[in-house]
Amino acid sequence: MFDYCIVGSGLFGSVFAYEASKRGKKCLMLEKRNHIGGNCYTKTQENVNVHTYGAHIFRTDSKEIWDYVRQFADFNHFINSPLANYKGAIYNLPFNMNTFCKLWNISTPKQAQDIIESQRKAALKDLKGAPKNLEEQALSLVGIDVYEKFIKGYTQKQWGRDCKDLPASIIRRIPVRLTYDNNYFNDPYQGIPKGGYTPIFEKLLKNCEVRLNADFLKHKEQFQAKAKKILFTGTIDSYFEYRFGELEYRSLKFEEEILEIPNYQGVAVVNFTDEQTPYTRIIEHKHFEFGTQEKTIISKEYPQTWDKSKEPYYPINDSKNQALFAKYQELAKQEQNLLFGGRLGSYQYYDMQDVIKAALELVKREFAQ
Ligand code: FAD
Ligand code: UDP
Repeated sequence: MFDYCIVGSGLFGSVFAYEASKRGKKCLMLEKRNHIGGNCYTKTQENVNVHTYGAHIFRTDSKEIWDYVRQFADFNHFINSPLANYKGAIYNLPFNMNTFCKLWNISTPKQAQDIIESQRKAALKDLKGAPKNLEEQALSLVGIDVYEKFIKGYTQKQWGRDCKDLPASIIRRIPVRLTYDNNYFNDPYQGIPKGGYTPIFEKLLKNCEVRLNADFLKHKEQFQAKAKKILFTGTIDSYFEYRFGELEYRSLKFEEEILEIPNYQGVAVVNFTDEQTPYTRIIEHKHFEFGTQEKTIISKEYPQTWDKSKEPYYPINDSKNQALFAKYQELAKQEQNLLFGGRLGSYQYYDMQDVIKAALELVKREFAQ
């Protein structure tokens, strides 16, 4: 008999498994994929650590989380400074003085501010109250030029919807700066684990029994009988057999290529912000670790409509889905000895630091005494 049956070996399940094992609890980890690590998983190919499920850059504003994660790996000094490719022209991201300088042929923060301010006023003269959707939020942050070239096409590809039909919160993740600073994040701590993410998971799961290619939902009763408590980090609607209907997700397809050249794009991440290019990003994996290998590996990231045969990468947190999620949460509360967590179990657009925080909060609640 196990104390916990943990479903999903992503960051949430694995942090919980580590902390529970440390407290003497017997844990069984079930993972339906053929590897541990969830979407953070990296594999080594041509001596390059490949981020199989898209670029994963660790950053946090919390010293506690930074110290926590560094128990399991050394981190390098990588700073994410992606580029935007708009119809062949290259601009810096996030939106900062380097972007504005190239866009408007200006040089001072005052000039940039004046342009943004006049564009905001023109675009928002009919807007009453706080921005209600992503388009209004973007226009009120950066004005029409930045919106049209860097946000509209990318966002519509990424989410498969018009910017007017998306929550404003999505775009608030990206900094806007009147300084010449290309760091995509504001967090004080940032880096990539040397050697990739998978060794972190090997350490987190070292005292836990792990079964790969094991889908909990296919043998639910059998697994429920094996443990006192279940922690489920898959999609909450799948656990309840879609009783109230399906929550919506956005899926992705990654196309990897090995190239016989040492350097393809000179930077880890390039965003293709026009509407026509079918992929949103190309990542060149070696640049996450300053690689000097003879070959290089790139991945193109194509957004896809989600259905049950595809991986659910992003929750779509609009009001319709939030209301449906609330109904599933009510069901979850009625179940005994059942916990949910992580990006899919909590239906939250969580980054790695949020997932670690949430897992450690659950640990505190579970082992309070
Ligand atoms: P997951 O990693 O999704 O793990 C869930 C696991 O559960 C999966 O392995 C799945 O196979 C398994 N599972 C599901 N159902 C079952 C079942 N029925 N039976 C058995 N196993 C099951 N965060 C950052 O901080 N920085 C970044 O740069 C960053 N980039 C990202 C880029 C992309 C393209 C994506 C999609 C996410 C990115 N993230 C990033 C977010 C990060 O991936 C998540 O915060 C984190 O991986 C979530 O961990 P999790 O454990 O909640 O979920
Ligand atoms: N976004 C954009 N243009 C870009 C990058 C991002 O319009 O060049 C928007 C897009 O809507 C995206 C959101 O900002 O979904 C958040 O971007 P982020 O890079 O944080 O996305 P993630 O890495 O989570 O996919």
